[in-house]
Amino acid sequence: MSATLIDGKVFAASVRDKVATHVARLKEAMGVTPGLAVVLVGDDPASEVYVRSKGKMTVEVGMNSYEHKLPAETSEVDLLALIEALNADKDVHGILVQLPLPDHLNEALVINAIDPAKDVDGFHISNVGLLSTGQKAMVPCTPLGCLMMLRDHHGSLSGLNAVVIGRSNIVGKPMAQLLLGDSCTVTIAHSRTKDLPEVVRRADIVVAAVGRANFVQGDWIKPGATVIDVGINRIPAPEKGAGKSRLVGDVDFTSASTVAGAITPVPGGVGPMTIACLLANTLTACCRSHGFAEPEGLTA
Ligand code: NAD
Repeated sequence: MSATLIDGKVFAASVRDKVATHVARLKEAMGVTPGLAVVLVGDDPASEVYVRSKGKMTVEVGMNSYEHKLPAETSEVDLLALIEALNADKDVHGILVQLPLPDHLNEALVINAIDPAKDVDGFHISNVGLLSTGQKAMVPCTPLGCLMMLRDHHGSLSGLNAVVIGRSNIVGKPMAQLLLGDSCTVTIAHSRTKDLPEVVRRADIVVAAVGRANFVQGDWIKPGATVIDVGINRIPAPEKGAGKSRLVGDVDFTSASTVAGAITPVPGGVGPMTIACLLANTLTACCRSHGFAEPEGLTA
């Protein structure tokens, strides 16, 4: 491997430290403690793990964590009533509804019921519009984490060719908007893109958000390019024992890391940054709601 490893675990810890320092200052100087409410509907085991770890880290940086666990059969009316109550609650600065929701609930309706100023996931249609028109928005956590790592590695991103593979609303599209905001020349590639390897070869920055294990090959990468691997894919790992599995990204790390200039690993790359950025967004939302100065380096 010749590429520099971009260590998301270390970077995320530094983001959480910054958040914790700022939260302590807010408490002391202003008597305000940022609060994050997380709403979980149903008992999906993966979602429960995420919610637990979000709650733990929220408390670790000194913020208040409010968990709302609702049964899978919760009606849309009841869920919307909870969101309305959280919107009105002055101690709650950030609201996150854990996705996916059970099938009988309309995800878009629920997300768009959140006060955009408290929408720390950045999925509300107002925040999507603000981001895409270059205005101050709440920015989706995963792309924000990618942007922070890219800025840290490159300094300025201005004029660089960036290829984002994937056009989802939660990763690909907001990632492309953020890179555009930092003056990259941006291409969004997707499942219908023709000659993807050739498109990727033009990129100084590759962000892979595809959801296919080891999909992006080393010989697609321009020598020296920076590769951000958003993918989280579980594959069988018979070498670890019968029935065992391991996590890999969307990029074939072994081949890509011999060509790239810098690369994020999976696990330990983008993943840890996502929760760190959720905490950063909650702090930002709190500062904005009170008219306090926003923390530097924690927003887009
Ligand atoms: P998605 O399924 O919503 O979107 C995948 C995108 O990949 C689509 O836009 C599709 O057009 C594109 N695609 C599919 N096949 C392709 C192909 N053959 N060539 C080019 N493009 C192709 O997925 P998502 O929600 O954007 O997530 C993408 C990956 O990122 C998943 O592995 C997911 O688990 C992971 N993820 C990680 C984090 C994190 O915190 N690290 C957060 C969100 C998502």
